[in-house]
Amino acid sequence: MISFEEARKTVLDSVRALEPVELPILDALGLVAAEQVISAEKIPPFDNSAMDGYAVRAADTAGASKGNPVELEVLMDLPAGQHTDQPVGQGESIRIMTGAPMPPGADTVVQVELTERAGEGRVRILKEHKEDQNIRRAGEDVAIGQIVAAVGDEITPAKIGLLASVGRSKISVVRRPVVAILATGDELVEADEPLGPGKIRSSNSYTLSSQVRACGAEPVYLGIARDTLDDVRAHLEKGLSADVIVSSAGVSVGDYDYVKTALEELGVEFKFTAVALKPGKPTVFGLLGDKPVFGLPGNPVSSMMSFEQFARPAILKMMGRRRLLRPVVDAVLDEDISKKPGRMSLIRAVARKEGSEYHVTTTGPQGSGILVSMDQANAIIIFESGIEVLKKGERVKTQLIRMPEVE
Ligand code: AMP
Ligand code: MG
Repeated sequence: MISFEEARKTVLDSVRALEPVELPILDALGLVAAEQVISAEKIPPFDNSAMDGYAVRAADTAGASKGNPVELEVLMDLPAGQHTDQPVGQGESIRIMTGAPMPPGADTVVQVELTERAGEGRVRILKEHKEDQNIRRAGEDVAIGQIVAAVGDEITPAKIGLLASVGRSKISVVRRPVVAILATGDELVEADEPLGPGKIRSSNSYTLSSQVRACGAEPVYLGIARDTLDDVRAHLEKGLSADVIVSSAGVSVGDYDYVKTALEELGVEFKFTAVALKPGKPTVFGLLGDKPVFGLPGNPVSSMMSFEQFARPAILKMMGRRRLLRPVVDAVLDEDISKKPGRMSLIRAVARKEGSEYHVTTTGPQGSGILVSMDQANAIIIFESGIEVLKKGERVKTQLIRMPEVE
C-alpha cells in the first residue's frame, strides 16, 4: 500500500494539461490562458478627465481661493463620448465630464465642487490647481506592447475586463476537462426515487458531480451500475469519450466489487489500488491510454475525500493550473484526538482565525458514512501515519478546503 504523498505524486505525474480551445472571453472564466495576449493599444486610449468639472489652464487658477475666486469663460460642454478640437485659451475653460478627452490647451481639471456658476457662460474657480490634476493619461492603465494575459494565467473577471478593453472578445484557453461520473451498487436509487427495503439514495453521484463542477470541469453522469461485471463494464464504456473517469464504490474486497475487474478488462493500467489513508484506503488509480481513471471508495465521506485529495489536483493540472493544492496552515488544536498508527488520517474540521492564528476543532464523529461531518468542515487536519495522539494546544497541519468570507 503506498503512502498518501506517493499516491498524490503518482496521480499528478500521470496527467498533463489538455489542448487549447478558443472561447468567447465570458466562457473562459476560471480557465487558463493558452496564449499570450499583448495590447496593441493604449488603455485609456486618450488623456481624459477623471472628474466632472472644468478643463482649464493651471496658470489661470494661480492664487484662486473661496475668498478670491478666478472667473473664466466657459466655451462649451464636453460630455464623455465626444471630443473637441476647440483649444482652451487664457481665461477660458470647457465644462468637461468624467471620461471625456482633454481639449487642447487645457492642462488640468477643476472638479465641479470647487467651482461656482457665475452667470451665463462663466464659472468661478475657488481653488488654485497645479498642472495634471484630475487627468487620466493615455496608456496609464495598459501601455502598447504590455502583456495583459500570459500563458498559464487564470481567467478572472478582471482579466476578462482587460481582454475586452484591448479589443479581444475571444481567447485561447486550456480546454475544460469532461469528467465521467459513475455510481455502482445494487442498493442505490436516485435522489428522486422512493426507497425500497435495503435501498439508499446515491449521494456520491451528486457530491462527485458537484466537486467536478466546483473545479471548473464538466461532469457527465453515467448513472448507477448494478453489481454485475457486465453492467459495471457497460457503464464504464459509456465514459470512454470523457477525459477522466471517476467511479465510486465496488472497489473493496467484497464478493460484489467488480470495478477493478471491469477496469482491468477495459485495459486500465493500474498505478495503485490502495492508499495508506483513512478515509480513502480503497482508492484505485490507473491510466487508460493517457486517460486518468479513479476508482473511488463507496462511503460518502471516503469518495469525497479521495476526490478532493487526488482527483481535484489532477483535474486542475489538466486545466493548465499551476497551483494545484489547497493551502496548508499550522493551526492550534482545540481538543485531544487519537488514532491507530499505520495510516494517515484526514480529520474533518472547522478552522477559524483568532487574531493572527488559526484554531481548529473536529466536526465530531468521523465515520466515513457521516456526510454531515463533511458538510460542516471547512478544513482537514492532516494526522500523520506514525503518530497516535495529537494533544489540545499542539500545532497541527491543517488543509483549508473552504474558508468562508469573514462577514
Ligand atoms: P462498497 O465499496 O461498494 O462496499 O460501498 C461502501 C459503502 O458505500 C456502502 O455502504 C454503500 O452503500 C455506500 N455507497 C456506495 N455507493 C454509494 C453512493 N453512490 N452514494 C451513497 N453511498 C454509497
Ligand atoms: Mg457496493
